[in-house]
Amino acid sequence: QAKASGRRAVRFFDPSMQAKLLAKVKLESELRQALEHQQWRLHYQPQVDRLGRLIGVEALLRWQHPERGLVSPGEFIPLLESTGLINDVGEWVLEEACQQLAQWAGSPLLNRLTISVNISPLQFRENNFLQRVEQVFQRTQAPLEQLKLEVTETLFVEARDDARDKMLSLKALGVRFSLDDFGTGYSSLAYLAQLPLDQLKIDQSFVQQVLESKANAAIVESTIALAKSLNLDVIAEGVEVEAQQAWLMAHGCHAFQGYLFGRPVSVNDIEAAVLAQSYA
Ligand code: C2E
Ligand code: MG
Ligand code: MG
Ligand code: MG
Repeated sequence: QAKASGRRAVRFFDPSMQAKLLAKVKLESELRQALEHQQWRLHYQPQVDRLGRLIGVEALLRWQHPERGLVSPGEFIPLLESTGLINDVGEWVLEEACQQLAQWAGSPLLNRLTISVNISPLQFRENNFLQRVEQVFQRTQAPLEQLKLEVTETLFVEARDDARDKMLSLKALGVRFSLDDFGTGYSSLAYLAQLPLDQLKIDQSFVQQVLESKANAAIVESTIALAKSLNLDVIAEGVEVEAQQAWLMAHGCHAFQGYLFGRPVSVNDIEAAVLAQSYA
């Protein structure tokens, strides 16, 4: 009896489990303070046309941690979502990107660039999402035609009509929508056709295997065809080698994002690249 409960007790105080739990509690409290300690950063990854000209950037969140350095979103977005912190951090991301657009609006070299901002489905579904976004637009006076919001198919798995209504309200202000990671979700094509989308973004998992896998090539081809018939733009993400870009171009995709064209970098690096390009 005592031995059995002892074994249970040992299992409960499994040191590795306890360490994991402690690490998670610590991470959560650090994430709560990251906003006031100004530890969030936005990096921007180039999006290019078929001639390699910069047409826009995707804003990607980074956490400048005092000891761990620059932390990638895969390590903290899930925790931001499960704690509800994603609403405040997501608003910070949007405001930062909108400020950037407002600043670029004065420059003939930069004012045609779009910025794509990722929106978590949880953030999008919040009751006050629209109000918060509209307040950001008022504060920043950003040119909204240059703003793209990236949503994923998971947004439309539940409360889809609410999501669609919110999209329509934002569309009326000039904002555009891109469907990120397309092909990895479970959304119905019939429903997707009813959404006010502007762009399909082919997920990098298909792009990276397009030369090796017939199945992936078929998925990419169908996505490009679907975008054409629904009158949507299409962009491929995760393009790493020239042969992938060549294949995509031959199959009708003319916008690209991926390490082949540039990794996510600071805004200064983006501006320097645009300047260099304009003198080339
Ligand atoms: P995503 O929106 O699909 O972003 C693309 C991810 O692929 C980025 O990773 C980018 O750095 C990476 N990537 C781009 N080109 C290549 C390539 O050629 N090869 C490879 N292997 N990877 C490439 P990152 O920055 O780590 O972001 C991961 C995910 O975190 C994003 O996927 C997005 O879902 C989420 N995320 C990032 N920033 C935000 C944000 O501000 N808000 C929200 N809600 N989610 C964000
Ligand atoms: Mg994205
Ligand atoms: Mg993506
Ligand atoms: Mg992705």
